[in-house]
Amino acid sequence: MTGTVPASTMTRDAATDAGGVSIEGVTKLYGSAKAVDDLTLDVRPGEFLSLLGPSGCGKTTTLRMIAGFEYPDAGDIRISGRSVLNLPPHRREVNTVFQAYALFPHLTVAENVAYGLQQRRVPKSEQRTRVGEALDMVQLRSFADRKPTQLSGGQQQRIALSRALINRPSVLLLDEPLAALDRQLREEMQLELKLLQARLGTTFVFVTHDQAEALSMSDRIAVMRAGRIEQLDAPAAIYAEPASAYVASFIGQQNFIPGTVHSDGAAVDTALGVLPGRWGGEVVAAGRAAVAAIRPEFIRLEDPLRQGDGVRGTVLGVSHLGETLQVLVDVGLEQKMLVRTPAPAAPVLQPGDDIRCVWDAADVRLFAAEGAPSTATHVINLPAPA
Ligand code: ATP
Repeated sequence: MTGTVPASTMTRDAATDAGGVSIEGVTKLYGSAKAVDDLTLDVRPGEFLSLLGPSGCGKTTTLRMIAGFEYPDAGDIRISGRSVLNLPPHRREVNTVFQAYALFPHLTVAENVAYGLQQRRVPKSEQRTRVGEALDMVQLRSFADRKPTQLSGGQQQRIALSRALINRPSVLLLDEPLAALDRQLREEMQLELKLLQARLGTTFVFVTHDQAEALSMSDRIAVMRAGRIEQLDAPAAIYAEPASAYVASFIGQQNFIPGTVHSDGAAVDTALGVLPGRWGGEVVAAGRAAVAAIRPEFIRLEDPLRQGDGVRGTVLGVSHLGETLQVLVDVGLEQKMLVRTPAPAAPVLQPGDDIRCVWDAADVRLFAAEGAPSTATHVINLPAPA
């Protein structure tokens, strides 16, 4: 798997960069369409980095170029400090786990895991030791003699993982590996994967369109849009300080209230009044289109007769999400306001109740309108009105 490369292609100190992936100004065209557009990204050695974004934003194409299954039209890709553009996939220090487990049905678990070693004619005794170790990594040694059809989906994916890790690649590329699993299993596997990655210290580049998955596992998340990276940061930082309306809408939920920038430049004039807040990303000039964004968990529900800030509305629906209560409120806008509040502290509410939604200006972010979702789609997972 690890190939020897001419010294001339070494551009950095390979020892300190071992396991790092450096993508520099990479573009990939399909016909005239740019699947990846001048993308630059440094994945640190030993890091769990997720590429997150909607379908078609270029995540898989980026991963496939690192793996060597696609060739960039421009730019360079280095793994462990060496340019890999002249190396075929099997000579790069990477391995890939796909959504479809791609196990051979006629081979046992152990034979599936050993396949790569067999191809490279590794001696049988060494194969046995390494297969045992690889199955231990995913706690499935006792399943060695089973066929893939005798395993659950989660177990099959763990086998695919152990097969990909058997050669201890410097970098593991994972393309939506948990997408086919049901929710509970997916959440268990997220934890397992993260623990495994931390234990092995292998660099993981993980492709997903599931923000919860990216938030729960990653050291850093690259939010992609139209072949580019819109924001790259730690999950908590991206959640707290999204750099654009696009990122704000993609990570967590938001109430977007459209309007124009107030004359003081620090608020948005909206149908709910002047909403002061703090700019996220680009600052927009007074009079130009912008949105004020408030996360559902930053809105409190209070007595409608209390005078003061916020906005009065009518409860449309209430849904219980275990610890939290999700409430949809009609505040007289085309879009409804979504509020999430701790269930024990929430007032007893029914559809039709009069209520006041209150928030602190410190929790309001202002964004350029460009990239904000349309009013028809900006609130997701709405509770059905009762
Ligand atoms: P998904 O989550 O749906 O897999 P993605 O973010 O991984 O999406 P890519 O698969 O990288 O996106 O695709 C990026 C763009 O490139 C899309 O517009 C896609 O239609 C296009 N594309 C990808 N592969 C090819 C190909 N082999 N030929 C032509 N166009 C392609």
